[in-house]
Amino acid sequence: MMLQQTQTGRVAPAYGTFLAKFPDVRTLAHAPAMEVIQAWRGLGYNRRAVDLQRSAQAIEHEYGGVVPSDLKALRALPGVGDYSASAVACFAYDRQVPVVDVNVRRVLSRAARASDELSLDETRRVAAEWLAPGEAYRWNQALMDVGAMICRIDKPLCAQCPLKATCEYRARGLNKGPRPERRPKQSPFEGSSRQKRGGIIDHLRDTAGEGVSLSVLAKVIHPNGHKDLTWLVELLEGLEREGLVEMTPGARRGSARGIVRLPG
Ligand code: SF4
Repeated sequence: MMLQQTQTGRVAPAYGTFLAKFPDVRTLAHAPAMEVIQAWRGLGYNRRAVDLQRSAQAIEHEYGGVVPSDLKALRALPGVGDYSASAVACFAYDRQVPVVDVNVRRVLSRAARASDELSLDETRRVAAEWLAPGEAYRWNQALMDVGAMICRIDKPLCAQCPLKATCEYRARGLNKGPRPERRPKQSPFEGSSRQKRGGIIDHLRDTAGEGVSLSVLAKVIHPNGHKDLTWLVELLEGLEREGLVEMTPGARRGSARGIVRLPG
């Protein structure tokens, strides 16, 4: 779940620290939410910390603390999509299912259909067809590695690729063609709601359980001043709905002295 939206280099150190603090499903399920959110520091998209704990609670209550191996059961857990469900089923339980991340999608699109990006449904069809029988564990990881290191977006290293003999993309010379058109970039992070939401949670991490008043929080996010607190209350309400903050009634009303804190 950490890898859903964060690069491996940032996940690797956080993963070890997180597991040291929450070594099993039970510990995670029973921890104060505040501690889980604290331990998510540096990974971004804090909602995943809440989802992960809610998943642990569901696993504890519905599956006796044992992570299910069935795709449908995994998929029903909070914050678990197709990628995470199939990765757990395959890499933890050796289930013979394809695992499609963004790199695997590119490799299969190119190698099987000479396309830069097939639809997700079509990619899943190809992934299921191509799955090496009995070898899903190694096959999926191999495809991920080929996608990450060889079949790069720009200038794929086809001469080193294990799929080069049968790759449709290469056969048609598309690997030497102009770069594929980039998808429109995500909206800028600077000044975005996402940045402000992240800033709020980071500040609440630093203030531990005591919380902070709306007026202080507003200054942290807008150091140059921002008298109207409506924007802040709206952001906080969203964060509260997601289980990331708690607000006193005063804070909900927009009172400058209302208190916000991480959930206990
Ligand atoms: S041969 Fe080239 S284009 Fe085809 S899968 Fe390998 S790296 Fe990608």
